[in-house]
Amino acid sequence: MNCKEVKKYLDAYLDGELAPDLLLDVDGHLEGCETCGSVVLVKRRFKSELLALGEIKAPEHLRMRIGRLPKQQSRRRIFIGAIAVPAAAAAALIVVLNFPDGATPEEPLAAVVDDVVARHVRQLPLEVEGADPVQTASWFRGKVDFPVNASGLKLKQASLQGARLSNVREHQAAQMTYIVDGHRVTLMIFNRRDRALQGGRRVKVGNKDVLLGRHNGFNVAVLLDGDMAYALSSDLSQNKLIDLIKGI
Ligand SMILES: [Zn+2]
Repeated sequence: MNCKEVKKYLDAYLDGELAPDLLLDVDGHLEGCETCGSVVLVKRRFKSELLALGEIKAPEHLRMRIGRLPKQQSRRRIFIGAIAVPAAAAAALIVVLNFPDGATPEEPLAAVVDDVVARHVRQLPLEVEGADPVQTASWFRGKVDFPVNASGLKLKQASLQGARLSNVREHQAAQMTYIVDGHRVTLMIFNRRDRALQGGRRVKVGNKDVLLGRHNGFNVAVLLDGDMAYALSSDLSQNKLIDLIKGI
């Protein structure tokens, strides 16, 4: 086996994936060849430094973008590329992402429902109080990275109490509290970032989809409007929630 042939097998050699007969051939060559021997040393050191770094989670926006790749480009393991680190580290950092084959990232509705209900029940203090949707919408300006429109805060026969910053799972959310027929209602507005909400019962309201879920005795209705999601949570009936969310 010459140097050129050995080079082809070096990665598999270092990964311990060579068949026994090939392993003997490569080992035999490495014993007598300083050039290939030094390549193995460098590669081995690189690998161990990489392992020492552990697996690195890519930022969410990057993972979202990968999820949007056409199917044939999306593989189970995606190497994002090498990022140079200071020379002292003498290594590169490779970001490895794991995705189900060719899938758009999905988000189970049940997880969203559980979280929305938990926050409805916890009832953290409002950060801005008052019944004026225009004032409330402008309070969110610069605080969340999606538009909060006053028109989206006007629910019919609902009296707005106030709002606060919140989250729905890892999504930043604008949280509103209303009183409807003496019942407290929470509205969560968030950007679902291209993630497909899956599960629950789906009904059409006008030309928009509303997903329905239930957790711990509370109903949740999630209206999908482009990338934005509007989740209502209350002990009111699902039909009442659908009625409320129609106006958004
Ligand atoms: Zn060689």
